[in-house]
Amino acid sequence: MTPDDTESDPSRDGVPTDEMLSPEEAFAVLGSDHRIAMLRALGEADGPLAFSDLRAAVGTRDSGQFSYHLNKLVGHFVRQTPDGYEIRRAGERVIEAVLSGAVTESPVRDATAVDRPCHYCGAPVEVRYHEDRIRVHCTDCEGIYGADERADGNGHLGTLPLPPAGVQHRTPAESLQAAYVWGELTGMASASGVCPRCSAVLDESVSVCADHEARSEPCEECVERYAVGIHFECTNCIYDRGGAFGVKLLTNTDLLAFLTARGINPVEPSARSAIGAMVDYEEEVLSTDPFEARFTFAVDGDTLSLRVGDDLAVVETTVDEAGGEARRD
Ligand SMILES: [Zn+2]
Ligand SMILES: [Zn+2]
Ligand SMILES: [Zn+2]
Repeated sequence: MTPDDTESDPSRDGVPTDEMLSPEEAFAVLGSDHRIAMLRALGEADGPLAFSDLRAAVGTRDSGQFSYHLNKLVGHFVRQTPDGYEIRRAGERVIEAVLSGAVTESPVRDATAVDRPCHYCGAPVEVRYHEDRIRVHCTDCEGIYGADERADGNGHLGTLPLPPAGVQHRTPAESLQAAYVWGELTGMASASGVCPRCSAVLDESVSVCADHEARSEPCEECVERYAVGIHFECTNCIYDRGGAFGVKLLTNTDLLAFLTARGINPVEPSARSAIGAMVDYEEEVLSTDPFEARFTFAVDGDTLSLRVGDDLAVVETTVDEAGGEARRD
């Protein structure tokens, strides 16, 4: 909590603590360039702004019209204090979403090769940006997911969400790095059962390809490298994503310790190759009903195995150091 988290103080706000707007009411209030400009000016200000200062910042000449629009915001989005007008959390969220570009822009960047090797074959990878996502492809091998019909690329290595603001003032390689960081944050929230969009409870489910073949290339049945997948679905908003099960292990303490002790920081995966350590592991399905599988991560000859049980929690950790004895915790 920061000291300004005092929105529930009705004496400061003049607003009942449980005031809610319906989505229709909220968007009706926001449906004005003037009001968005006011929220932006208040969001950028270091503290409350007096009426005249806010009006100067927004540049509205007509005082009556300015008051009219400001009064629409006061309550849910803006609070009036003795020192002037101040943005509330709801107003900040609106301006954050607007400035991320997520709701207003859709830049496209064509395929560009970047100076990062494919984790699997060492060939250069290329990135594309479209609809708030960076898609990463290998220029040579099949990658993790094979052909990517949605982006006209082969060797799909993964798709990473990145708001449009993320590609501003960045080279394709820098955008890719930003997308890794952004994706790790999303993955960590998901692995912990917290929706990365709205923070509500996530439902999770595991899937196992019944007829999975080999692992050097994506399987013909499920077209993926790994047989075990994890799916996250928010119980509140429309967030709904799936991927290789490794993401679910992203916050495992033993795995983080194993990786960081060997110089790999999975949260800041710049030092390693194009796709981080979280999607390079061996999997062994021990049972499908109840679900039980073992996931083994290897670095420089040392391995760490995590056995995962039916509730998707890790039930056993085994570390095997090169030349040393296996150790079970
Ligand atoms: Zn490759
Ligand atoms: Zn399969
Ligand atoms: Zn959600």
